[in-house]
Amino acid sequence: MSGRGVKRCDAKFCQDRIGRGQLMCRTHWAMVSRTTQTQVNAAWRRYKKREIDIYELVRVQSLAIDEVAKAEGVE
Ligand SMILES: [Zn+2]
Repeated sequence: MSGRGVKRCDAKFCQDRIGRGQLMCRTHWAMVSRTTQTQVNAAWRRYKKREIDIYELVRVQSLAIDEVAKAEGVE
């Protein structure tokens, strides 16, 4: 376990460190469409309230990760 709730940006090949509860670094998050950002934020809130499970959360998050991968051409 790495210390104090710090993880890596979920965009492919990105090594930036971000806080827990964030999906990506600011640079990559800015590449995600507004619609998908809203979906990811809503899914995270629902996950924390246990309204959805981790698989549903990851499914929504992967939409954002795919968008960034497409934008960067690293699919
Ligand atoms: Zn990143």
